[in-house]
Amino acid sequence: MATYPVFLDLAGRRTLVVGGGPVAARRAASLVESGALVEVVAPWLCEDLALLVADRRVEWHAREYAAGDLDGAWFVHTATGDRLVDDAVAADAEAARVWCVRADDASRSAAWTPAVARGADGVVLAVSGGGDPGRARAVRDAVAAALDAGTLPVRRTRAAAAPAVGVVHLVGGGPGDEELLTVRGRRLLAQADVVVVDRLAPRSVLASLAADVEVIDCGKTPGHHQLTQDQINEVLVDRARQGLTVVRLKGGDPFVLGRGGEEALYCHAAGVPVTVVPGVTSVVSVPAAAGIPVTHRGVTTSFALVSAHDGIDPVVEAARSHSVSTTLVLLMGVRLLRSSCAALIEAGRPASTPVAIVERGWTASQRTTVGTLADIADLAEARGVESPAVVVVGDVVALRSRLGPFSPELD
Ligand code: SAH
Repeated sequence: MATYPVFLDLAGRRTLVVGGGPVAARRAASLVESGALVEVVAPWLCEDLALLVADRRVEWHAREYAAGDLDGAWFVHTATGDRLVDDAVAADAEAARVWCVRADDASRSAAWTPAVARGADGVVLAVSGGGDPGRARAVRDAVAAALDAGTLPVRRTRAAAAPAVGVVHLVGGGPGDEELLTVRGRRLLAQADVVVVDRLAPRSVLASLAADVEVIDCGKTPGHHQLTQDQINEVLVDRARQGLTVVRLKGGDPFVLGRGGEEALYCHAAGVPVTVVPGVTSVVSVPAAAGIPVTHRGVTTSFALVSAHDGIDPVVEAARSHSVSTTLVLLMGVRLLRSSCAALIEAGRPASTPVAIVERGWTASQRTTVGTLADIADLAEARGVESPAVVVVGDVVALRSRLGPFSPELD
């Protein structure tokens, strides 16, 4: 049958639902979501409809359908479960030129509701299965999954009602493996006009971006110009002010030693909207990739994160303020490894405390070096251990021999 697909603006318009069962409840709920004024005619209501009535989201006429109920209505759903009543509603609607969807018999309906999927930022997908609702839902589900996964080209080609200012999404990319990027992060990337990316972000996803997406690399590759934090802040605000959607793709979690807070504050001060998408932090995930849980029942119930970027004082401080059993996780800890270990022994950690260094976690060249506070610095030097690496100090390291690495790695 030839049909004419269309989207209706029902906001503020009177619509009618005839019937009080679960089908009527679903229809009423989606009409309410579209902003329609919804009235229900039914002698009794199922629980979901009763809730909508109690919330004053729909108005209920507690009686059978009667001629005249369609007066002033733009649209009607009938789902009474009683063929004669549905026939009467459909016939009255036809005479009054009101579009009527009937739930019982699509072939006798003047209009149909499609299977619907809503993507972000106004994307709506409506599917007809050619008279087979199950088929329509299956197609809808498949496209919805792709929308969620961020694999569809949903980027706007035309600005939405000319936004004066765009938005910056601070997206945590996880420890480097594209599969450890969140579903939301992936979806926002598919919408981005501009992607500002860090060196430790999951850079392989960049290959899937459309050719006209601007990619700004803040990477700290040796010998190449790297953007300063001020320049990064400025570029985020500058692009957003052009009305563009900006994804700031970071390694791990944006708020864990990632300067995400500073960037958010800068955008905020500039009047640019910001959202944050958490990421899988390397603090926990990189040890895990090497078979090391940061807490383990019977071994320790706490872990402390320390940055060794700006000196060993924070390392000493962490050792002093936590019990000996607390696992210490050092980020940016390779450069000052030797002095950090010496300081930890000095601060009271036994020289025999196990230490693991996991380099390039979740990449094909992941490598783990295991020793103790006494000898790890020598071992690391001998093996040429390099940044990026996560250093784990504590008895949980010993579990590695039993749990083994969870991803392929060199040893
Ligand atoms: N925001 C990030 C941390 C940024 S600080 C997060 O939540 O993970 C950068 C440090 O993180 C690196 O020096 C290193 O210590 C650690 N790191 C990040 N990704 C890593 C990886 N894939 N393998 C090993 N260490 C990693």
